[in-house]
Amino acid sequence: MWGFETEPEFQRELDWIDAFVRERVQPLDHLLGNQYDVADPEFVRLVRPLQAEVKARGLWACHLGPELGGKGYGQLKLALMNEKFGMARFGPIVFGAQAPDTGNSEILAHFGTPEQKRKYLEPLLANEVVSCFSMTEPQGGADPLGFTTSAVLDGDEWVVNGEKWFASEARTAAFFIVMVVTEPQAENPYRRATMLLVDAGTPGLEIVRDYGFHGEPEPAHAHLRFTDVRVPAGNVLGGRGEAFAVAQTRLGGGRLHHAMRTIAQAQRAFEMMCERAVSRTTKGQRLADLQMVQEKIADSWVQLRQFRLLVLETAWLADQGRDWRQIRLHVSAVKAEMPKVLHDIAARALQVHGSLGLSTEMPFTDWLVNSFHVGLADGPTEVHQQVVARELLKDVAPAEGMFPSYLRAEEERRARELYGSV
Ligand SMILES: Cc1cc2nc3c(=O)[nH]c(=O)nc-3n(C[C@H](O)[C@H](O)[C@H](O)COP(=O)(O)OP(=O)(O)OC[C@H]3O[C@@H](n4cnc5c(N)ncnc54)[C@H](O)[C@@H]3O)c2cc1C
Repeated sequence: MWGFETEPEFQRELDWIDAFVRERVQPLDHLLGNQYDVADPEFVRLVRPLQAEVKARGLWACHLGPELGGKGYGQLKLALMNEKFGMARFGPIVFGAQAPDTGNSEILAHFGTPEQKRKYLEPLLANEVVSCFSMTEPQGGADPLGFTTSAVLDGDEWVVNGEKWFASEARTAAFFIVMVVTEPQAENPYRRATMLLVDAGTPGLEIVRDYGFHGEPEPAHAHLRFTDVRVPAGNVLGGRGEAFAVAQTRLGGGRLHHAMRTIAQAQRAFEMMCERAVSRTTKGQRLADLQMVQEKIADSWVQLRQFRLLVLETAWLADQGRDWRQIRLHVSAVKAEMPKVLHDIAARALQVHGSLGLSTEMPFTDWLVNSFHVGLADGPTEVHQQVVARELLKDVAPAEGMFPSYLRAEEERRARELYGSV
């Protein structure tokens, strides 16, 4: 079976989402600040009614599988939906599909106790609150085995000490999922860390500083300090020493949704480049008639379509029942390629717009910076390229002798062995 069609009923939903995001959600990006500030009266006034329309349409928070209480759309449909959500900064939150809450709700649904689900998952899925996922530490993020923030059991409480950073949305979060070392003696280094649920406002938990990125409305990525932060013993998410397994559970789907939202930005850059190319003239010709501009447009379209197919193939494989570990080659390939696609297309669109393209009147520099963001968050590109190469090479056998097995003389010898001399 092989096909590229979308079922007509689902295509109708995608068309509705497309129009809704372009006409009703994109304007919010120009009016409101941080999209995670759910307590902001303007958020309540403008975003809540849109969320209510999405809920009434049955398209709210579709990311959980049916076994976890969701609609069970599967990764392919979720990917296509996220391609629409990504067209606006407020798109994901209007549909209850914003990171890191989607991944956090996935692991709460998967590993949470009934009490944790009641206290944390239910308000999170309703977007009454937002949450923070905190792994990265100042001394190194790409190597989680180097994390040192620790928790020690003292009676019926964990006592947490250490520092984390780039904890996105810590300022607005009602609770944090924090990776802490609890089993330093475990022989397997991947069994030394545990995920803890920590409520915002717990004494000893301090935001040292919020770091900001170009293109974001305000600094929202926190440097956190934990000084004797006391957390109930029952706030372990998963089991003791299970943090790596918990973290892996949230990353697979999230990476694909992120990729499709990135495609949405690249697609918008592409559409803008095309409009400018047919609108602007130089020396009596449209930009669209210049070969080097045509090359930019052709390369961008091909690059985007190739990448989109890779993401959709990966989503399709996930829907065939393969677990994320089985398809990590594909997931890491998507993660590794995503920054380059956005970077290249945003950069070409910027160039075609000339000075205007570089100015803050246009979104291209935001998207260029975002291309670096998607190349760092959830692990740097290089780490994912290594996974791709390792996966591709693991079953490749070395040649038996000094020469390649495909040396022409050798291939001819094998052909003669099979068919005799001709
Ligand atoms: C916008 C944004 C939001 C984020 N949000 C969160 C969040 O909510 N929660 C959270 O926990 N973290 C978050 N992060 C942190 C992110 O996960 C880390 O930045 C990432 O894992 C890399 O860690 P690092 O920045 O410490 O880089 P380092 O580990 O210092 O690596 C620096 C560079 O070294 C190179 N490098 C590192 N390792 C290798 C390797 N094995 N092979 C080859 N080259 C390598 C790469 O070029 C890499 O970019 C966020 C980051 C960004 C940019």
